[in-house]
Amino acid sequence: MTQDACFEGGCLCGAIRYRAHAPVLRGVICHCRTCRRHSGAPALAFVHFPADAFEWLAAPPSWYRSSPHAERGFCPTCGSTLGMREAILADRVQVCVGSLDDPSRIHIDDHVWVRSRLPWFDTIDPLPRFAQSSSAVESQAGDGE
Ligand SMILES: [Zn+2]
Ligand SMILES: [Zn+2]
Repeated sequence: MTQDACFEGGCLCGAIRYRAHAPVLRGVICHCRTCRRHSGAPALAFVHFPADAFEWLAAPPSWYRSSPHAERGFCPTCGSTLGMREAILADRVQVCVGSLDDPSRIHIDDHVWVRSRLPWFDTIDPLPRFAQSSSAVESQAGDGE
């Protein structure tokens, strides 16, 4: 999918703001345990922006290394879940869709780590569902990694 546009977002308290000049690379809903624990939500939706089209406008987030493969970004003041970064996907920034000023603009492409999906949580959509990582990207983040 390709959307040429400008997207902005930030954390709950406003200390951290970002801007991305699309194209949006990808939208995904992750059902893995690490995303669940990091966010406190049943699943976590991400949008991928090209790293060279993305900027933190003021303070950058704090980063917590959640596995050998990935780090999780959050606001150290209000605790908002902001994103993830992986060495294997260094060309992009993975932003939590809920932090966008207008999350409804994001198109979701697929679901990943559905083998860890909570039995009482699902969405009604025809999107591809992957037991682990999507075939679209070589993510190494996810359960127990
Ligand atoms: Zn904040
Ligand atoms: Zn995940």
